Amino acid sequence: MSRRAWLRGLVPRVADTALEAASARVDEVLPDPEPVVVLHRDRCFTFRGPECGACVGLCPPEADGALRLVTCKPVVDADLCNGCGACVEACPTIPTALELVIPGALAEE
Ligand code: SF4
Ligand code: SF4
Repeated sequence: MSRRAWLRGLVPRVADTALEAASARVDEVLPDPEPVVVLHRDRCFTFRGPECGACVGLCPPEADGALRLVTCKPVVDADLCNGCGACVEACPTIPTALELVIPGALAEE
């Protein structure tokens, strides 16, 4: 589920006009396309030796496994990521191994 769709789901359905106004505000606030997370493996503790995984448990269920462990290492599926940023906040590396970027600006690792 995209962040845009998720935010729209929070809007109380009190009146059609209020819903339309709130939806328009969501479009104003969010960039188009919406940001997604990329993983910089060279910064990630787990790819460099010590185990971490602090990010994985914070990926929300509605993102449907956008960030998960594969053979004990974190993997991001940009098609599922809603750009909530929870994993970025959890990552202890400096600079952070997880970064929100605009699709199209994605750098290959
Ligand atoms: S920003 Fe991180 S926590 Fe949020 S959906 Fe994307 S991968 Fe999951
Ligand atoms: S929180 Fe950061 S360092 Fe830890 S596994 Fe996730 S990306 Fe790697």
